[in-house]
Amino acid sequence: PFDVLVVGGGPAGASAAIYAARKGIRTGLVADRFGGQVQDTLSIENFISVNKTEGPKLVANLEEHVNDYDIDVMKGLTAAGLEKKDHFELTLDNDAVLKSKSVILSTGARWRNIGVPGEEEFRNNGVAYCPHCDGPLFEGKDVAVIGGGNSGVEAAIDLAGIVKHVTVLEFMPELKADDVLQQKLNSLNNVTVITNAKTTEITGDDSVNGITYLDRVSEETKHIALQGVFVQIGLVPNTDWIGGEIEKNKFGELIVDNGGATNVPGLFAAGDCTDTPYKQIIISMGGGATAALSAFDHLIRTPEP
Ligand code: FAD
Repeated sequence: PFDVLVVGGGPAGASAAIYAARKGIRTGLVADRFGGQVQDTLSIENFISVNKTEGPKLVANLEEHVNDYDIDVMKGLTAAGLEKKDHFELTLDNDAVLKSKSVILSTGARWRNIGVPGEEEFRNNGVAYCPHCDGPLFEGKDVAVIGGGNSGVEAAIDLAGIVKHVTVLEFMPELKADDVLQQKLNSLNNVTVITNAKTTEITGDDSVNGITYLDRVSEETKHIALQGVFVQIGLVPNTDWIGGEIEKNKFGELIVDNGGATNVPGLFAAGDCTDTPYKQIIISMGGGATAALSAFDHLIRTPEP
Protein backbone atom coordinates (compact mmCIF):
# COMPACT_ATOMS: atom_id res chain seq x y z
CA PRO A 1 0.00 0.00 0.00
CA PHE A 2 0.87 3.65 -0.28
CA ASP A 3 1.70 5.52 2.90
CA VAL A 4 -0.11 8.59 1.59
CA LEU A 5 -2.50 8.60 -1.34
CA VAL A 6 -3.55 12.03 -2.58
CA VAL A 7 -6.80 12.29 -4.53
CA GLY A 8 -6.80 15.38 -6.75
CA GLY A 9 -4.07 17.14 -8.70
CA GLY A 10 -4.85 20.82 -8.23
CA PRO A 11 -2.76 23.17 -6.06
CA ALA A 12 -3.87 21.38 -2.86
CA GLY A 13 -3.06 17.89 -4.16
CA ALA A 14 0.25 18.87 -5.72
CA SER A 15 1.35 20.56 -2.51
CA ALA A 16 0.23 17.63 -0.35
CA ALA A 17 2.08 15.13 -2.55
CA ILE A 18 5.33 17.12 -2.50
CA TYR A 19 5.21 17.59 1.28
CA ALA A 20 4.51 13.87 1.77
CA ALA A 21 7.23 12.71 -0.64
CA ARG A 22 9.76 14.95 1.08
CA LYS A 23 9.27 12.76 4.18
CA GLY A 24 10.56 9.79 2.19
CA ILE A 25 7.27 7.92 2.42
CA ARG A 26 5.49 6.09 -0.39
CA THR A 27 3.26 8.67 -2.03
CA GLY A 28 0.70 8.38 -4.81
CA LEU A 29 -1.44 11.01 -6.52
CA VAL A 30 -4.58 10.26 -8.53
CA ALA A 31 -6.04 13.06 -10.63
CA ASP A 32 -8.82 13.26 -13.07
CA ARG A 33 -7.31 16.37 -14.61
CA PHE A 34 -3.93 17.54 -13.32
CA GLY A 35 -3.97 21.24 -12.46
CA GLY A 36 -7.65 21.41 -11.60
CA GLN A 37 -9.30 24.82 -11.78
CA VAL A 38 -5.95 26.47 -12.41
CA GLN A 39 -6.08 24.96 -15.93
CA ASP A 40 -9.11 27.17 -16.58
CA THR A 41 -7.61 30.38 -15.25
CA LEU A 42 -6.25 32.97 -17.58
CA SER A 43 -4.38 35.44 -15.48
CA ILE A 44 -3.21 34.94 -11.88
CA GLU A 45 -1.97 38.01 -10.03
CA ASN A 46 -2.39 36.99 -6.39
CA PHE A 47 -0.06 34.02 -6.12
CA ILE A 48 2.31 35.75 -3.76
CA SER A 49 5.91 36.18 -4.99
CA VAL A 50 4.84 35.72 -8.62
CA ASN A 51 3.64 39.10 -9.90
CA LYS A 52 1.67 37.66 -12.75
CA THR A 53 1.28 34.26 -14.33
CA GLU A 54 -1.17 32.23 -16.38
CA GLY A 55 -3.07 29.13 -15.29
CA PRO A 56 -1.55 26.64 -17.73
CA LYS A 57 1.92 27.99 -16.93
CA LEU A 58 1.41 27.57 -13.19
CA VAL A 59 0.09 24.05 -13.84
CA ALA A 60 3.25 23.23 -15.82
CA ASN A 61 5.35 24.52 -12.89
CA LEU A 62 3.29 22.44 -10.45
CA GLU A 63 3.75 19.31 -12.54
CA GLU A 64 7.46 19.87 -12.92
CA HIS A 65 7.81 20.26 -9.16
CA VAL A 66 5.75 17.11 -8.49
CA ASN A 67 7.83 15.15 -11.02
CA ASP A 68 11.00 16.17 -9.18
CA TYR A 69 9.96 13.74 -6.44
CA ASP A 70 9.33 10.04 -6.23
CA ILE A 71 5.56 10.39 -6.49
CA ASP A 72 3.45 7.81 -8.31
CA VAL A 73 1.30 10.15 -10.42
CA MET A 74 -1.79 8.57 -11.96
CA LYS A 75 -3.49 11.03 -14.29
CA GLY A 76 -6.79 10.73 -16.11
CA LEU A 77 -8.30 8.52 -13.41
CA THR A 78 -11.43 9.31 -11.42
CA ALA A 79 -12.00 8.15 -7.87
CA ALA A 80 -15.44 6.62 -7.40
CA GLY A 81 -15.45 5.30 -3.84
CA LEU A 82 -13.46 5.19 -0.63
CA GLU A 83 -13.65 2.58 2.12
CA LYS A 84 -11.63 1.96 5.26
CA LYS A 85 -10.69 -1.65 5.98
CA ASP A 86 -7.19 -2.56 7.29
CA HIS A 87 -6.07 0.16 4.90
CA PHE A 88 -8.03 2.73 2.94
CA GLU A 89 -9.26 1.36 -0.37
CA LEU A 90 -9.86 3.86 -3.15
CA THR A 91 -11.91 2.49 -6.02
CA LEU A 92 -11.38 4.10 -9.41
CA ASP A 93 -13.89 4.37 -12.24
CA ASN A 94 -12.00 1.63 -14.09
CA ASP A 95 -12.65 -0.63 -11.05
CA ALA A 96 -8.99 -0.69 -10.01
CA VAL A 97 -8.48 -0.42 -6.25
CA LEU A 98 -5.61 1.53 -4.68
CA LYS A 99 -4.65 0.82 -1.06
CA SER A 100 -3.11 3.32 1.30
CA LYS A 101 -2.43 3.78 5.00
CA SER A 102 -3.62 7.38 4.82
CA VAL A 103 -5.54 9.44 2.26
CA ILE A 104 -5.64 13.16 1.50
CA LEU A 105 -8.75 14.25 -0.37
CA SER A 106 -8.17 17.35 -2.49
CA THR A 107 -10.78 17.06 -5.21
CA GLY A 108 -11.55 20.78 -5.33
CA ALA A 109 -14.76 22.42 -6.40
CA ARG A 110 -16.51 23.91 -9.40
CA TRP A 111 -18.46 27.13 -9.80
CA ARG A 112 -22.10 26.49 -10.61
CA ASN A 113 -22.80 27.80 -14.11
CA ILE A 114 -25.83 29.92 -14.99
CA GLY A 115 -26.07 28.10 -18.32
CA VAL A 116 -27.16 30.98 -20.55
CA PRO A 117 -25.82 31.90 -24.01
CA GLY A 118 -22.60 33.89 -23.73
CA GLU A 119 -21.41 32.35 -20.46
CA GLU A 120 -19.07 29.83 -22.08
CA GLU A 121 -18.13 32.10 -24.95
CA PHE A 122 -17.01 35.00 -22.75
CA ARG A 123 -15.57 33.02 -19.83
CA ASN A 124 -12.33 34.78 -18.82
CA ASN A 125 -13.32 37.50 -21.25
CA GLY A 126 -15.76 39.43 -19.11
CA VAL A 127 -17.44 36.46 -17.44
CA ALA A 128 -15.83 35.76 -14.08
CA TYR A 129 -16.53 33.72 -10.98
CA CYS A 130 -14.05 34.87 -8.37
CA PRO A 131 -14.10 38.49 -7.14
CA HIS A 132 -10.85 38.05 -5.15
CA CYS A 133 -9.17 36.86 -8.34
CA ASP A 134 -10.66 38.99 -11.08
CA GLY A 135 -12.19 42.03 -9.35
CA PRO A 136 -9.23 44.33 -10.12
CA LEU A 137 -9.53 43.56 -13.85
CA PHE A 138 -12.79 45.53 -13.85
CA GLU A 139 -11.52 48.68 -12.16
CA GLY A 140 -13.59 51.68 -13.28
CA LYS A 141 -16.01 49.49 -15.26
CA ASP A 142 -19.67 48.51 -14.90
CA VAL A 143 -20.37 44.94 -13.83
CA ALA A 144 -23.24 42.69 -12.86
CA VAL A 145 -23.32 40.07 -10.14
CA ILE A 146 -25.74 37.21 -10.77
CA GLY A 147 -27.01 35.83 -7.48
CA GLY A 148 -28.25 37.53 -4.32
CA GLY A 149 -27.21 34.98 -1.74
CA ASN A 150 -24.32 35.53 0.67
CA SER A 151 -21.63 34.98 -1.94
CA GLY A 152 -23.33 37.26 -4.48
CA VAL A 153 -23.86 40.08 -2.01
CA GLU A 154 -20.33 39.71 -0.59
CA ALA A 155 -19.02 39.87 -4.15
CA ALA A 156 -21.09 42.98 -4.89
CA ILE A 157 -19.82 44.76 -1.74
CA ASP A 158 -16.25 43.78 -2.60
CA LEU A 159 -16.56 44.86 -6.25
CA ALA A 160 -18.31 48.14 -5.38
CA GLY A 161 -15.00 49.33 -3.90
CA ILE A 162 -13.15 48.64 -7.15
CA VAL A 163 -15.48 49.04 -10.11
CA LYS A 164 -17.64 51.98 -11.21
CA HIS A 165 -21.06 50.38 -10.75
CA VAL A 166 -22.47 47.02 -9.72
CA THR A 167 -25.89 45.64 -10.65
CA VAL A 168 -27.02 42.65 -8.59
CA LEU A 169 -29.49 40.38 -10.39
CA GLU A 170 -31.53 38.08 -8.17
CA PHE A 171 -34.00 35.55 -9.61
CA MET A 172 -36.24 35.46 -6.53
CA PRO A 173 -38.42 38.36 -5.25
CA GLU A 174 -35.85 39.17 -2.56
CA LEU A 175 -32.16 38.80 -1.76
CA LYS A 176 -31.24 35.73 0.25
CA ALA A 177 -28.09 37.12 1.89
CA ASP A 178 -27.78 37.74 5.65
CA ASP A 179 -29.35 41.00 6.85
CA VAL A 180 -26.05 42.62 7.85
CA LEU A 181 -24.73 42.06 4.33
CA GLN A 182 -27.90 43.48 2.78
CA GLN A 183 -27.65 46.54 5.02
CA LYS A 184 -24.05 47.06 3.98
CA LEU A 185 -25.04 46.62 0.33
CA ASN A 186 -27.87 49.14 0.65
CA SER A 187 -25.49 51.70 2.12
CA LEU A 188 -23.40 51.75 -1.06
CA ASN A 189 -24.24 54.37 -3.66
CA ASN A 190 -22.86 52.56 -6.71
CA VAL A 191 -24.92 49.39 -6.41
CA THR A 192 -28.34 48.66 -7.92
CA VAL A 193 -30.32 45.57 -6.94
CA ILE A 194 -32.82 44.06 -9.39
CA THR A 195 -34.98 41.24 -8.05
CA ASN A 196 -37.25 38.88 -10.01
CA ALA A 197 -34.63 38.98 -12.74
CA LYS A 198 -34.04 35.85 -14.79
CA THR A 199 -30.78 36.23 -16.68
CA THR A 200 -31.29 35.06 -20.25
CA GLU A 201 -28.09 36.04 -22.06
CA ILE A 202 -24.64 37.53 -21.61
CA THR A 203 -23.97 39.59 -24.70
CA GLY A 204 -20.70 40.70 -26.23
CA ASP A 205 -18.49 41.15 -29.25
CA ASP A 206 -14.79 40.64 -28.45
CA SER A 207 -15.68 40.60 -24.77
CA VAL A 208 -18.80 41.11 -22.65
CA ASN A 209 -20.82 44.24 -23.49
CA GLY A 210 -24.04 43.58 -21.59
CA ILE A 211 -26.53 41.34 -19.91
CA THR A 212 -30.12 40.53 -20.86
CA TYR A 213 -32.72 39.49 -18.33
CA LEU A 214 -36.41 38.78 -18.13
CA ASP A 215 -38.28 40.84 -15.56
CA ARG A 216 -40.40 38.03 -14.13
CA VAL A 217 -43.10 40.43 -12.90
CA SER A 218 -43.67 42.59 -16.00
CA GLU A 219 -42.45 39.78 -18.33
CA GLU A 220 -40.44 42.37 -20.23
CA THR A 221 -36.98 41.57 -21.54
CA LYS A 222 -34.40 44.17 -20.55
CA HIS A 223 -30.76 44.77 -21.41
CA ILE A 224 -28.03 46.51 -19.42
CA ALA A 225 -24.79 47.65 -21.05
CA LEU A 226 -21.77 46.63 -18.92
CA GLN A 227 -18.32 45.08 -19.22
CA GLY A 228 -18.26 42.26 -16.70
CA VAL A 229 -20.49 39.59 -15.20
CA PHE A 230 -19.68 37.72 -11.98
CA VAL A 231 -21.67 34.50 -11.65
CA GLN A 232 -22.23 33.85 -7.94
CA ILE A 233 -24.77 31.07 -7.69
CA GLY A 234 -22.68 28.61 -5.74
CA LEU A 235 -19.38 26.78 -5.51
CA VAL A 236 -19.97 23.05 -5.51
CA PRO A 237 -17.36 20.79 -3.87
CA ASN A 238 -16.42 17.63 -5.82
CA THR A 239 -17.38 15.36 -2.95
CA ASP A 240 -20.57 13.59 -4.10
CA TRP A 241 -18.65 10.33 -4.56
CA ILE A 242 -17.41 10.45 -0.96
CA GLY A 243 -19.94 8.74 1.28
CA GLY A 244 -20.00 6.74 4.46
CA GLU A 245 -19.27 8.25 7.79
CA ILE A 246 -17.14 11.13 6.50
CA GLU A 247 -18.56 14.37 7.88
CA LYS A 248 -19.60 17.11 5.47
CA ASN A 249 -21.33 20.44 6.09
CA LYS A 250 -24.63 21.45 4.45
CA PHE A 251 -22.77 22.58 1.32
CA GLY A 252 -21.15 19.16 0.91
CA GLU A 253 -17.73 20.44 1.98
CA LEU A 254 -15.57 18.03 3.99
CA ILE A 255 -15.25 19.19 7.58
CA VAL A 256 -11.62 19.42 8.66
CA ASP A 257 -9.85 20.60 11.79
CA ASN A 258 -6.96 23.05 11.66
CA GLY A 259 -4.57 20.19 10.87
CA GLY A 260 -6.64 19.13 7.86
CA ALA A 261 -7.97 16.00 9.62
CA THR A 262 -11.48 14.75 8.87
CA ASN A 263 -13.50 12.81 11.45
CA VAL A 264 -12.03 9.52 10.14
CA PRO A 265 -8.56 8.73 11.57
CA GLY A 266 -5.97 8.69 8.77
CA LEU A 267 -8.22 10.58 6.38
CA PHE A 268 -7.27 14.18 5.65
CA ALA A 269 -8.54 16.81 3.23
CA ALA A 270 -7.31 20.08 1.77
CA GLY A 271 -8.31 22.90 -0.53
CA ASP A 272 -11.63 23.84 -2.10
CA CYS A 273 -13.33 20.52 -1.24
CA THR A 274 -13.12 21.37 2.48
CA ASP A 275 -14.95 23.81 4.74
CA THR A 276 -11.83 25.98 5.00
CA PRO A 277 -12.86 29.57 4.28
CA TYR A 278 -11.69 31.41 1.12
CA LYS A 279 -11.07 29.29 -1.95
CA GLN A 280 -7.75 30.41 -3.39
CA ILE A 281 -4.63 28.83 -4.87
CA ILE A 282 -2.30 29.94 -2.10
CA ILE A 283 -4.76 28.81 0.57
CA SER A 284 -5.22 25.42 -1.10
CA MET A 285 -1.47 24.92 -1.25
CA GLY A 286 -1.16 25.76 2.43
CA GLY A 287 -3.96 23.31 3.17
CA GLY A 288 -2.22 20.58 1.17
CA ALA A 289 1.02 21.09 3.08
CA THR A 290 -0.81 21.02 6.41
CA ALA A 291 -2.71 17.83 5.51
CA ALA A 292 0.49 16.06 4.39
CA LEU A 293 2.34 16.95 7.59
CA SER A 294 -0.66 15.76 9.61
CA ALA A 295 -0.78 12.51 7.62
CA PHE A 296 2.92 11.94 8.35
CA ASP A 297 2.33 12.63 12.02
CA HIS A 298 -0.54 10.14 11.98
CA LEU A 299 1.61 7.46 10.29
CA ILE A 300 4.47 7.66 12.76
CA ARG A 301 2.02 7.30 15.65
CA THR A 302 0.02 4.41 14.19
CA PRO A 303 1.19 0.85 14.68
CA GLU A 304 1.19 -1.39 11.56
CA PRO A 305 -2.06 -3.37 11.30
P1 FAD B 1 -8.93 22.13 -7.87
O1 FAD B 1 -8.05 23.15 -8.48
O2 FAD B 1 -10.39 22.19 -8.13
O3 FAD B 1 -8.38 20.70 -8.22
C1 FAD B 1 -9.10 19.54 -7.97
C2 FAD B 1 -8.37 18.33 -8.51
O4 FAD B 1 -9.08 17.14 -8.15
C3 FAD B 1 -8.26 18.27 -10.04
O5 FAD B 1 -7.05 17.67 -10.37
C4 FAD B 1 -9.42 17.37 -10.42
O6 FAD B 1 -9.26 16.75 -11.69
C5 FAD B 1 -9.34 16.37 -9.30
N1 FAD B 1 -10.56 15.59 -9.05
C6 FAD B 1 -11.80 16.01 -8.75
N2 FAD B 1 -12.63 14.99 -8.53
C7 FAD B 1 -11.88 13.87 -8.68
C8 FAD B 1 -12.14 12.47 -8.56
N3 FAD B 1 -13.34 12.00 -8.24
N4 FAD B 1 -11.12 11.61 -8.83
C9 FAD B 1 -9.88 12.06 -9.15
N5 FAD B 1 -9.57 13.35 -9.24
C10 FAD B 1 -10.56 14.25 -9.01
N6 FAD B 1 -7.46 31.40 -7.19
C11 FAD B 1 -6.46 32.29 -6.96
O7 FAD B 1 -5.81 32.21 -5.92
N7 FAD B 1 -6.16 33.24 -7.89
C12 FAD B 1 -6.82 33.38 -9.07
O8 FAD B 1 -6.53 34.27 -9.88
C13 FAD B 1 -7.87 32.44 -9.34
N8 FAD B 1 -8.58 32.53 -10.48
C14 FAD B 1 -9.54 31.58 -10.73
C15 FAD B 1 -10.20 31.63 -11.96
C16 FAD B 1 -11.12 30.67 -12.29
C17 FAD B 1 -11.81 30.73 -13.64
C18 FAD B 1 -11.43 29.63 -11.34
C19 FAD B 1 -12.43 28.56 -11.71
C20 FAD B 1 -10.80 29.59 -10.12
C21 FAD B 1 -9.85 30.57 -9.79
N9 FAD B 1 -9.19 30.55 -8.56
C22 FAD B 1 -8.16 31.45 -8.35
C23 FAD B 1 -9.50 29.57 -7.52
C24 FAD B 1 -8.46 28.45 -7.51
O9 FAD B 1 -8.31 27.96 -8.83
C25 FAD B 1 -8.88 27.35 -6.56
O10 FAD B 1 -9.05 27.87 -5.25
C26 FAD B 1 -7.83 26.24 -6.49
O11 FAD B 1 -7.57 25.72 -7.78
C27 FAD B 1 -8.30 25.11 -5.58
O12 FAD B 1 -7.35 24.11 -5.57
P2 FAD B 1 -7.72 22.61 -5.19
O13 FAD B 1 -6.47 21.84 -5.39
O14 FAD B 1 -8.39 22.58 -3.88
O15 FAD B 1 -8.85 22.15 -6.24
